Amino acid sequence: MSKSKVYFVKLNELNKIKDLLPSFDKPLGVKVHFGERGNISFVPAVYIKQIVEMINEPTLIETSVLYKSARRTAIGHKELAIEHGFDFAPVDFLDGEFGDDFMQVDIKGKHFQKAYLGKGLEKYKSLLVISHFKGHEMCGFGGALKNLGMGLASRRGKLAQHSSIKHEANKTKCVGCGLCVNDCPVNAIFFDSENKAEINKDICISCSKCISVCPQEAIRIPWKSIGREELQERVAEYASAGAQDRNCFFINFVINIVHNCDCNNEPMEKITADVGVLVSDNPVAIDQASYDLVLKQFPDFINHESEYQLKHTEELGLGSRQYELINI
Ligand code: SF4
Ligand code: SF4
Repeated sequence: MSKSKVYFVKLNELNKIKDLLPSFDKPLGVKVHFGERGNISFVPAVYIKQIVEMINEPTLIETSVLYKSARRTAIGHKELAIEHGFDFAPVDFLDGEFGDDFMQVDIKGKHFQKAYLGKGLEKYKSLLVISHFKGHEMCGFGGALKNLGMGLASRRGKLAQHSSIKHEANKTKCVGCGLCVNDCPVNAIFFDSENKAEINKDICISCSKCISVCPQEAIRIPWKSIGREELQERVAEYASAGAQDRNCFFINFVINIVHNCDCNNEPMEKITADVGVLVSDNPVAIDQASYDLVLKQFPDFINHESEYQLKHTEELGLGSRQYELINI
């Protein structure tokens, strides 16, 4: 198998990336992560701005998260994006106001035959996926594959990757306001004899809209822990769905390397020195190269058991783990 090219650029020479970028078919979506409130490790807006200025007509794209956060709705997420300095380009939240707009993509995976991605993705012919490479609690590391797989999924898709279990209403917290009953797209929620919300799990499609609208935070997902291997394989399968039928290009910022992901709402200590910036058209190779470079200077990073996502995406044909690292 031929080796993919992965280019290495120093952080203070980001201008060199311009010559590496392909000519993108339009519309182009630039997939980013705006960082959780309180987090300081995400890729700073100033670097993303520098790259976006190299491109014509880019739109920053993102999706809502599953858990309690300003990033749970498009309005809250946009406010946070602006707070974090991402005010230099239009922003498109692919899964709509409440994270429940999705499109179905057929895949041939071990865990999934269909993936539920943010519906807005269908209009983009090209993607530039800009990722922060760092540790991750379950995936071992988060980079391009995680940004593609989890990052483009609608809330239904995110839930499918994390758990196969349906939502539940906490009857102690529920005050019977009825907002979730009115907003459920498939009428899966009804009131029990005590005027508390109850979810019909046979009807629920796991869109997670009820989580967004409930003012009492009474709807929860009873997380069933799945192992690292299975979660990483599920993310890999969603990554293959996100890349399907569009030109994709990848930039990994291997800086601010911390143990956990940018969804944490507090500052985290760096575990090793900044490495630099990697650029490639192959998401598997760029993550493999990022991982190898971090391991080289911080051997304990291997304890994260990160190989499953690389192995499974390669098996799915998303790209090769073999690469040639070229210093620019
Ligand atoms: S009950 Fe299920 S289908 Fe209805 S809003 Fe909640 S997650 Fe969506
Ligand atoms: S929105 Fe929340 S508080 Fe209101 S009925 Fe639904 S679960 Fe209960």
